[in-house]
Amino acid sequence: MITTQEAIDLEDKFGAHNYHPLPVVLAKGEGVNVWDPEGNKYYDFLSAYSAVNQGHCHPRIVNKLKQQAEKLTLVSRAFYSDQLGAYEEYMNDLFGYDKLLPMNTGAEGVETAIKLCRKWSYEKKNLTPKKATIIVAKGNFHGRTTSIISFSNDPVARENFGPYTPGFVSIPYDDLDALEQALQEKDVAGFLVEPIQGEAGVVVPSEGYLKKAAELCQKHNVLFIADEIQTGIARTGEMLCVDHEDVRPDIVILGKALSGGAYPVSAVMADDNIMDSMRPGVHGSTYGGNPLACAVAMEALKVVEDEGLAENADKLGQLFRDEMNNLVEESNLVNLVRGKGLLNAIVINDSEESDTAWNICLKLKENGLLAKPTHGNIIRFAPPLVMTEEQLQDCISIIKDTIHSYEKANA
Ligand SMILES: *Cc1c(COP(=O)(O)O)cnc(C)c1O
Repeated sequence: MITTQEAIDLEDKFGAHNYHPLPVVLAKGEGVNVWDPEGNKYYDFLSAYSAVNQGHCHPRIVNKLKQQAEKLTLVSRAFYSDQLGAYEEYMNDLFGYDKLLPMNTGAEGVETAIKLCRKWSYEKKNLTPKKATIIVAKGNFHGRTTSIISFSNDPVARENFGPYTPGFVSIPYDDLDALEQALQEKDVAGFLVEPIQGEAGVVVPSEGYLKKAAELCQKHNVLFIADEIQTGIARTGEMLCVDHEDVRPDIVILGKALSGGAYPVSAVMADDNIMDSMRPGVHGSTYGGNPLACAVAMEALKVVEDEGLAENADKLGQLFRDEMNNLVEESNLVNLVRGKGLLNAIVINDSEESDTAWNICLKLKENGLLAKPTHGNIIRFAPPLVMTEEQLQDCISIIKDTIHSYEKANA
């Protein structure tokens, strides 16, 4: 059995250094817990960026994966499979769209939505050829492809990757005036937005923003595209985060928890008037919609429904923010807590460049809870949604004790 140090050394030596992981090695997972090779047990408060909403190695999802893996894993879309149509029907019924386009990773889902939106805009809205623009929000995170990083404003994600893809207009997040102004411009095809900006530090827009933004888009015949890759699948206490404001996006992008962490599965959903611009040969993916992905995703969604994970996220989220608000009162180290459902973050009272949040995460790890800073001084807290109230209370104690003792030690 490999030790923690050996595993870290191997990754360090043989892998590209495109991540800066917390120094913990995980060898096993079950529900809300993970274990390192030495057998130390942790609460997972990241859930692989909300991919394991259903908990690690959910037995129903693992069983389905095994069953399907023994029958048929890949046909490519050159042939039909006995899994894809049933999965698509299930998804469309669940989310209320006419058609689904299956992909694998989140970034591919976003790329697909961008292509779909542009194609629709030329064929149905007659925009000037090659001029269609898509409005995006500052602080966005939509993935890592060349086009997607072209409209990121994170310098680290962009630097030395140009030339960049043109055709994107960036406006401040949560700013309806800026959106209204951008929508007046010629040749606007779509508005791509995260209902909550996860990577930016769980930035929750003002109440009514999504509703009003969708209305403005509709008024200008511009597609409202919701990137629900991190916020979707019950994470914020509703199946989709836009459900909180009864918004129905023209295009929805899902990924991450769509498969409960068992397999990369993403999906783009829209109605026929948009999706019918996709014709044979126009777009595709060898693995997209493969039988293994379809079987796993369908089971992963049934688990979310059967176990009432949206309701649980809503209930536990309230409790968590109440307790973190108490901590904000008690401690000078924590400035505020924000979030929805079980997608939350605390803002540490220090500069973005400081390593305070990182050091607190190291202490949390020592105390049995794994979380990671985002944007320097923000710590995201997003445990699997299968957590019980008792487990959450245990975690709240760990977080409070860690913050208090860190504050004492560094006073
Ligand atoms: C993670 C994420 C993506 C990218 O998904 P990948 O599977 O990593 O390509 C896109 N958008 C949002 C909001 C995400 O959180």
